[in-house]
Amino acid sequence: MSALLQQDEASQLLDAAIRGELPDSRGRFGPFGGRYVPETLVPAFERLEEGVKEHLHDESFQAEYRKELREWVGRPTALTFAPRLSEAWGAEVWLKREDLAHTGAHKINNAIGQALLAKRLGAERVIAETGAGQHGVASAAACARVGLPCTVYMGAVDIERQAPNVDRMHRLGAECVAVESGDKTLRAAIDEALRTWVTDPNGIYYLLGSAVGAHPYPYLVRELQSVIGEESRQQMLDQAGALPDAAFACVGGGSNAIGLFYPLLGDDIELIGVEAGGTGSGLGQNAATLATGTPGVLQGSYTMILQDDDGQVQETHSISAGLDYSGVGPEHALLQATGRVKYISAEDDEALEALEELCAAEGILTALETSHAFAAAKQYAKENPGSKILIGNSGRGDKDMPTLTKYPARIRTHASA
Ligand SMILES: *Cc1c(COP(=O)(O)O)cnc(C)c1O
Repeated sequence: MSALLQQDEASQLLDAAIRGELPDSRGRFGPFGGRYVPETLVPAFERLEEGVKEHLHDESFQAEYRKELREWVGRPTALTFAPRLSEAWGAEVWLKREDLAHTGAHKINNAIGQALLAKRLGAERVIAETGAGQHGVASAAACARVGLPCTVYMGAVDIERQAPNVDRMHRLGAECVAVESGDKTLRAAIDEALRTWVTDPNGIYYLLGSAVGAHPYPYLVRELQSVIGEESRQQMLDQAGALPDAAFACVGGGSNAIGLFYPLLGDDIELIGVEAGGTGSGLGQNAATLATGTPGVLQGSYTMILQDDDGQVQETHSISAGLDYSGVGPEHALLQATGRVKYISAEDDEALEALEELCAAEGILTALETSHAFAAAKQYAKENPGSKILIGNSGRGDKDMPTLTKYPARIRTHASA
């Protein structure tokens, strides 16, 4: 239990979250969230909030969104039993296969939903930010699908690190703009997208990639990603005959984790979010925002952030570009403060090892981001033998081959004759 909330306040807020009453009308998840933006951005956010209210739960929008998920994204994604991993860990391990979704990760669920919303709002073009490039690729694909031009802002440093994804975006018809300001990575890319959005809030739709930022984004992205948890819940009942004892997801901004956890909040399931522990617990060595951060405002939202004693936001480190962000979605900050979800971290080395083990045991090359969830789940299995474990397999690892190539494989499962 966090000192940020009194015990009775925490349990009331958790009940409200389970009943689907959060965020409140001001976009707040208890003390977290809200909208802390400059005056110039207020009209753009208000227009988006109105649009979300009008369309998101409208029957015809939902029908169109569900159809795209089925016919273009390839949902429902499989729930896969992992027999060899289960045997090795002494637990029953199930994987929710977001790696099988179109473009290779959960990000497409949000991108196609917001692209359809952009159409409904009459936008002439879409802008998006990207860090590692995965959200840029998903946005480019979704915009091509709905027939809207797309511009992706990407830090100059990231453009260099993620050249293949820049090429993918171009081929999908998007323009990729290098951001030379600030830290030249994800945070600067978000700032640049916001600056562009103000210039024409009616013509431009800003397609944000995670459950972060000012209201309504954390809510909008959660609603579009909840399909992960909804499907998982039903598939566990159908295929495993019961709900899991514990569910794990990696946490960067927190979109795949909130998508998995939100529909399971009211169930008797331990929920565990796994952040990037990087190379250690010192400031700057990791991206473990919830595990090691403090409350503050970052990019329009009051949430947990990595900052020094003077409130200066710190650079982060993780082997996985997708977890490398100094903030986190405000709903996770609340779920941590209420004690409903536990947030822990896995270090670079542990993630690499888990990735190799999964590859060799199940023939699945998972993303480096996702590998953090596997590392933590393995530890849980050791402490809880025989338990049923659900892991959100947020994306595939083909994109990580350039990084993986630097680390020689340590596991050899098949001895040569
Ligand atoms: C982007 C990404 C993440 C981290 O983003 P969240 O918003 O925290 O889900 C995790 N896994 C994969 C495969 C990603 O591409």
